[in-house]
Amino acid sequence: MDITANSTVSALVVDDSRAMRQLLAAMLRELGAGKVVEASDGAEALALCDQALWPFDLLFCDLSMPGLDGVQTIRHLAIRHPHVTVVPFSGLDPRLLVTVARLAQQLGLRVDGPLAKPFGIDTVAGILQRAAQRRSDQPAGPPPSLDRREIDRALAERRLIAYYQPKIGLRSGEVEGVEALARIVGDDGNIIGPDAFIAVAEQDAVCIEQLTLAIAEQSISQTGIWHTLGLRLDIAINLSAEAIRRGDLPELIGSFAGKAGLAHECVTLELTETRVASGPGVLDALSRFRLQNFGLSVDDFGTGESSLKRLKGLPFTELKVDRIFVHGADHDPQARAILEASVGMAQRLGMKVVAEGVERAQDWQLLEALGCDQAQGFLAARPMRGTDILAFIDAWKTRSLAGAR
Ligand code: C2E
Ligand code: CA
Ligand code: CA
Repeated sequence: MDITANSTVSALVVDDSRAMRQLLAAMLRELGAGKVVEASDGAEALALCDQALWPFDLLFCDLSMPGLDGVQTIRHLAIRHPHVTVVPFSGLDPRLLVTVARLAQQLGLRVDGPLAKPFGIDTVAGILQRAAQRRSDQPAGPPPSLDRREIDRALAERRLIAYYQPKIGLRSGEVEGVEALARIVGDDGNIIGPDAFIAVAEQDAVCIEQLTLAIAEQSISQTGIWHTLGLRLDIAINLSAEAIRRGDLPELIGSFAGKAGLAHECVTLELTETRVASGPGVLDALSRFRLQNFGLSVDDFGTGESSLKRLKGLPFTELKVDRIFVHGADHDPQARAILEASVGMAQRLGMKVVAEGVERAQDWQLLEALGCDQAQGFLAARPMRGTDILAFIDAWKTRSLAGAR
């Protein structure tokens, strides 16, 4: 195992049990983590985060602690240090761990793990490796958040571009579609991810509308070009509820498809679960999208509240299971149960099921066995420029022939 990259990662371990804290810290040091700091409770951890010159990459957080417990600590973190990746760990009921992990995600934090005690060094190594990978993908420090003016300027200067992440059919083994993911090319040429601008854009109806339309127009036109080249890819586009409020969105997206010569059934709109049932405007637009034969997908399925209640009676065609239930589901009974139930339910409702965050061959094999339709994740490919998709598809054919997924 090459652990040199781990030296870029800093970690904070919070646990009131000294033995447990020291054990985990020792594992992290053995694995080559660059900086490992310990705290005995939530308040101390938050103070250390406040004082740190460079934000911690990972915060391993025990759930039951005197004073601020794990959940309270996570709530504070989400407000004060939203760029840290939280790894909840506990010896309590593993289902509680999954619930807390979901809560942290809903609060906007990145989550890895969770770790049920006792855990082995291999699991910790995986978490560290992923943090190191994120470090190498990103410039040091938290991603800069753009302001409204910068987003407007990027839109005007056509620096808002779509990246595409392949979706692979688990039965066909082929690239069946792509998801368009927004990026901004910064003034220095660096690529800025959506975490730095979607939430800001969503605060203003006009801004998020323009952003959504720009990505929809680009990605639909690009997909039309792929079709003329004989590549029948489907395209998935993310919709914010804020953008749907614009009444003529189905017609506008329909006009992009018309211009690109793309059948509506090749276009799927993804909406996160929590946003699905937010008011009559949304329901109106959803119905009209379906009437026009567009696909509708429930994004991040499983992370919202009362999932099933909300879904009943809504015209969705696809479920996109959140990566927290996909990644590592083969050895995490709770994640696996939720994954299995989601696949079974989608099948009974006649919906397609897509799993996101497929990072390991074991995740892939489990999804195949469960009868999931498509897999999307770093195992196959990271999001890439449209111009790289053709080469990827060629390389993928060789890779899948060799059985090397
Ligand atoms: P999402 O719709 O859930 O998109 C999937 C995110 O998961 C993408 O991050 C993708 O790069 C990442 N991902 C894919 N495979 C893996 C994997 O195997 N492991 C891990 N750890 N992550 C994986 P990205 O591109 O940073 O997008 C983040 C979110 O930003 C999206 O989440 C979506 O909610 C939002 N977003 C992106 N583009 C748009 C857009 O055009 N409009 C709107 N409204 N939201 C967008
Ligand atoms: Ca999505
Ligand atoms: Ca998603």
